[in-house]
Amino acid sequence: MALKNYIRDIQGFPKEGILFKDITPVLIDPIARKECLEKLMSSLKDKKIDKVIGVESRGFFFGMLIAQELNVGFIPVRKPNKLPYETISATYDLEYGTDTLEIHIDAIQKGDRILIHDDVLATGGTAKAVCELVERLGGEIVQCNFLMELTFLNGRAKIKENEIFAAITY
Ligand code: AMP
Repeated sequence: MALKNYIRDIQGFPKEGILFKDITPVLIDPIARKECLEKLMSSLKDKKIDKVIGVESRGFFFGMLIAQELNVGFIPVRKPNKLPYETISATYDLEYGTDTLEIHIDAIQKGDRILIHDDVLATGGTAKAVCELVERLGGEIVQCNFLMELTFLNGRAKIKENEIFAAITY
């Protein structure tokens, strides 16, 4: 079955006006989950990735599976005050207000080849902030990798200097 059939649209979550793309039907089905992972992996041949970043929180699911497949390290990028060790942070604009993401200062060594993974590329603000964190720690971004891209929001413009891959596009 097509992967899109496993993405559930929830109108008005978490607030009015948002069409939320729910990936839990992919997570719960081992066949769909495997197919999704294989699709993500197909874009990563010969990329020589050193570490995979998963963005809190839905980027953790497939981010960790990808890291396991590649046999490389996994790095969580988290919301403020969740990571226990010393961190650096990047703040980015939302429709209303701002948000902040953090990474441990010792998660990336200079020159590490980094894959950034999240579930959805929407406006690109989140991915751009993660790119900034990687660059500040001296990492090299190999690819920004998503389960899905909402192309009508043109998030890729914000991270256009990077390679971008999405398993599903809308
Ligand atoms: P953005 O910064 O606008 O690209 O938004 C990306 C982040 O917000 C990702 O971490 C997604 O998990 C979440 N997100 C944005 N839009 C949606 C959506 N329509 N459905 C599910 N998650 C979304």
